[in-house]
Formats: sequence, C-alpha cells, structure tokens
Amino acid sequence: MKCPRCALRLQKVSCQSVNVHCCSECCGILVGRDRLSRLAVTSRKTIVELIQDWEQRQLLPAVERPRCPECRIVMDAAASFGRGRFMFAECRKCQLLWMDPGDLEVWLIACLVQDFHRQGDQVQIQQFDTLLAGMQVDRQSLLIAKIPRLEE
Ligand SMILES: [Zn+2]
Ligand SMILES: [Zn+2]
Repeated sequence: MKCPRCALRLQKVSCQSVNVHCCSECCGILVGRDRLSRLAVTSRKTIVELIQDWEQRQLLPAVERPRCPECRIVMDAAASFGRGRFMFAECRKCQLLWMDPGDLEVWLIACLVQDFHRQGDQVQIQQFDTLLAGMQVDRQSLLIAKIPRLEE
C-alpha cells in the first residue's frame, strides 16, 4: 500500500505497541479502525511529550481528502481540524483510518485531557485548547464519540 499523500510505500511499524502502517516521508499513519482504541490504551506518552511530538510534526496542512490506500476511493472525513484540514480520513469499506502528521498526537492528547483537568495542569490545558481551536466534531461518527468533550 502506498501513502495517499506522498505515494511512497507504507511501512509496517509498531506505534504505541500497536501494528500500523506508517509513511517514512510524511509520518502519516494508516490504522485499522478496530485498533484505534488500543492506541489510546497503550500510549505511555505524557501530554507534554505528545504536544512536543505534535509541534515537530505540524507540517503543511493537507486539505485534500486522501484516497484509500487499499481500494483507492476518496476517503470520508471523520472530523475536520482547523481551517479545512481533516482530522482522520476513513474508508468505511476497508475499515481503515488515515491520520495526517500530528493527528494521532492530537487524538491521544484528547484522550488524556480529562485526567489533566483533574490534575489541574492549567498551562498544558491552555496549550491544548489553542491546539484544538476551530476543531469541528462530527458527532455522528463513532470514532469521534470516543474523544472526551472539552470543558471551558
Ligand atoms: Zn507520506
Ligand atoms: Zn478502502
């Protein structure tokens, strides 16, 4: 399978000890829908580390919906993030999700953020809120239903 952004061959790698396909050029990630929740469960990174990773991977916005590396149809947007940038593209037929660089970090931070509210780490929460400003959530999507709602 080839990267829908760079057209280079995707490599099988272990990400947070879950097998995914990754593009060595753009750091985009292709993951089976059924494995997504395991990524959150097995992540050992702190919110600070995830924000650092995200800052390093914040490349040019990819505004085009990619084609599924498996069946080549244009993938659906599971949610949009910022100005027209899609967070998670999904192929419902193949049950595959494509994450552009930084999307995984944002999603993992969202999974962690409720804990950080409890710990009262206000500085990191502010950074996170800035990060997600403008994010529109498709509430119909099962996937996004797993992202905790942010408190004001
Ligand atoms: Zn790529
Ligand atoms: Zn497909």
